[in-house]
Amino acid sequence: MSDNLYELLSSRFPDDPARPCFQLINGEVVTYGRIRSEAQIVAGRLISEGVVPGDRVALQVEKSPEAVIIYLATLMIGAVFLPLNNAYTASEVAYFLGDAEPRVFIQNAQAYLAGAAGRKPLTDPVPRAGTDLAAIIYTSGTTGRSKGAMLTHGNLASNALALHQAWGFSETDVLLHALPIFHVHGLFVALHCAFLSGIPMIWMPKFDDTEVLKGLAGATVMMGVPTFYTRLLANPEFTRESVAHMRLFVCGSAPLLPSAFADFQARTGHTILERYGMSEAVIITTNPLDGSRLAGSVGFPLPGLDLRIGGGGDTGVIEIKGPSVFSAYWRMPEKTVEEFTADGYFVTGDVGRRDPDGRVWISGRAKDLIISGGFNVYPKEIELILDELEGVTESAVIGLPHPDFGEAVCAVVIGSGDETTMIAACRTQLAAFKVPKRIFFVEDLPRNAMGKVQKNLLRERYGVTFSV
Ligand code: AMP
Repeated sequence: MSDNLYELLSSRFPDDPARPCFQLINGEVVTYGRIRSEAQIVAGRLISEGVVPGDRVALQVEKSPEAVIIYLATLMIGAVFLPLNNAYTASEVAYFLGDAEPRVFIQNAQAYLAGAAGRKPLTDPVPRAGTDLAAIIYTSGTTGRSKGAMLTHGNLASNALALHQAWGFSETDVLLHALPIFHVHGLFVALHCAFLSGIPMIWMPKFDDTEVLKGLAGATVMMGVPTFYTRLLANPEFTRESVAHMRLFVCGSAPLLPSAFADFQARTGHTILERYGMSEAVIITTNPLDGSRLAGSVGFPLPGLDLRIGGGGDTGVIEIKGPSVFSAYWRMPEKTVEEFTADGYFVTGDVGRRDPDGRVWISGRAKDLIISGGFNVYPKEIELILDELEGVTESAVIGLPHPDFGEAVCAVVIGSGDETTMIAACRTQLAAFKVPKRIFFVEDLPRNAMGKVQKNLLRERYGVTFSV
């Protein structure tokens, strides 16, 4: 076996080709046998179109089993998979295509498979080394140009094997899959864990709390972003009984509110397992399967991953080195150099600390750090206090341009209340320079597809609050 990730994944597919791989919500089942044979046929089509190892295969399609088949076929022939968010507009897509120069660009997975019918299947995957490129994942990039993180077969395989073990996957599991597959969470984390046990996935085109509730009846594991869990909690039919049979709920891609963690525990008796990852390294830390999972902590680094806090203080930017960490940004050598230390650690841009037990606690993105009157303010510290106030469901703290302070600490909160009273409540718990100067009330916060609050949009929206 070479280091081609397809060889590893397909070596774990069940021997019985009739075993289900995808169970769709319309009742249709796509078997492992079909996944394997169609991946071979699609590989045949890609090759006949001139795709050679190292070429990029770009895809902007609806979530479907066919899209996953194209992913597997791309790995199989040693080409480089390049998934694009469905929400990208034509001009955004034009940038990615210009930057990555894919050999093929697929916009309809079903049509691509139909067009592959009758091609000569490729039965033997193209051998790959662990250092060969498997995928390019463009970061969501809220500032500047989006960067393409280059992930190798070795990066993906090492992370998949570590997670499969850390989360105790076995042949008896059934994974509920409601995540998008243009992002590492749904594409690598979820799919690879399932493939490594050859288990069925209950396959949802998107998150819908009613459908997910139905699907959970047949599942043992669910992976989600925090908004999945808060939406489930908002559904009164989501009860302890409805999930009594579940083994594990995993959460990540954005911070899980401690209140959601506690509400989930109270409602279901299950403790959400929070983990932390990013496009450049897939999963970095996880709470333990056995042992205590703490609200607000993202747990321990995965085995084999070195994690340290840069800058010499207790709290600082998290730096990582290990087998899953990417080695470069596509065609951006200067950016790559900037974001690695001289001794080879990737500077994640996330600010955090480790407690005496070694657990990692994240306090936000470095670029969200507020400098007000010369003092550093970490938004998370203020958000945690606001979230405890009556009438507040969730908060996002940002710095806005201010004539005296440079930046003024301000908060945007989901909920309602009296601004002056809330500011006074903060003053009893926080040093004056950390107290929000303004609090804005909203019904919802802007989020991207992975549930991350887009603070850049909030900074734009409220940018002229103080005349500078
Ligand atoms: P992406 O590359 O789009 O997956 O975004 C990665 C970023 O998401 C990380 O750098 C973190 O800022 C954030 N993130 C992911 N998981 C968590 C988590 N469990 N808690 C807090 N932030 C997270």
